[in-house]
Amino acid sequence: MIARADIPAPAGMLAELTHRCPLGCPYCSNPAELEKPASELDTATWKRVFSEAAAAGVLHVHLSGGEPCVRADIAELTAHCAQVGLYTNLITSGVGLTRKLFDALVDARLDHLQLSIQDAEASSADRIAGYDGAFARKSEVARWTVEAGLPLTINAVMHRANIARAARMVEMAVELGARRIEVAHTQYYGWGLVNRAALMPSREETEKAVAAVEDLRKTHEGRIVIDHVVPDYHARFPKACMSGWGRRTFNVTPSGKVLPCHAAETIPGLEFWNVRDRSVAAAWYDSPAFNAYRGDAWMKEPCRSCERKAIDFGGCRCQALALTGDACNADPICEKSPRHATVGAIASNESASGAIDYRYRRLNAKA
Ligand code: SF4
Ligand code: SF4
Repeated sequence: MIARADIPAPAGMLAELTHRCPLGCPYCSNPAELEKPASELDTATWKRVFSEAAAAGVLHVHLSGGEPCVRADIAELTAHCAQVGLYTNLITSGVGLTRKLFDALVDARLDHLQLSIQDAEASSADRIAGYDGAFARKSEVARWTVEAGLPLTINAVMHRANIARAARMVEMAVELGARRIEVAHTQYYGWGLVNRAALMPSREETEKAVAAVEDLRKTHEGRIVIDHVVPDYHARFPKACMSGWGRRTFNVTPSGKVLPCHAAETIPGLEFWNVRDRSVAAAWYDSPAFNAYRGDAWMKEPCRSCERKAIDFGGCRCQALALTGDACNADPICEKSPRHATVGAIASNESASGAIDYRYRRLNAKA
């Protein structure tokens, strides 16, 4: 157990204000077991949580979901965050964001808007989102954002159905006036894991897309910042998931559970504290779930003696559990993992199926 004094203060918070969302993206990072609207925290509790987060050292908050704009109090919550000194980033699909609500968010001193796009082609984008007309909403919301002088980031998740247009999606972000684009190859958690066989691209498609995006990084230098989240299943080493468990950021779910990462509930036996009965600081420093994988005492070989353990922290605990059955194992994305070959086999088997048959992410869908 790490002493409280050795635990860094949290810097960021992801507030999943609701799991309601008009879209049904098959790669959604929300858990397969979505939380019901009746369990959502009320306005006063969220405000308290934001105040406690700021007092605990949090600097920026991502107002997310689901679709955060379905909450009637989203502008009020944004204003409260500004009041307590938090930098706010609204993560939205753009669907459900009216001009009136957008203006209210600007008045509430929203700092940044992050807009998801599903594809650069309208019919494919709407099919991926499971929502007719979703694509058409994006350019309007992007225009409002740029005209209001708010920084705009485009978020584009890559998978089999759109990976051939990865470069086109970067161009689209430039045309929309975005300052930044996050090109994120699908992470196979939550609904992404449910739909893995329908989402996994081939190694060739992935390598082509990665090269095209990297080329654009050079040609568009100075015009747009390209953040490129590497494709897990085709990588040699894992990413530093959440910048390390309980080191930088935390999530609060719609019902108030404080999680070290959005998929942490898939790990059996972890005890999560809830903001309804504990403070944010107590959950961060003292809850069993946060302390379970802090530091490196929990690590097994090959991580325990690995020179990269302070760089990637052994990868993702949830992925280690999902693919090896033990959350203390090295993330098998790592080529040093004895189970690394399994990852390659899953990637080539599932990408070979070619089918695009989604189980859409819906509140009432059984995953
Ligand atoms: S990924 Fe898609 S379904 Fe999930 S919250 Fe975002 S817009 Fe909604
Ligand atoms: S062995 Fe563990 S710490 Fe080393 S690179 Fe692989 S996952 Fe990271």
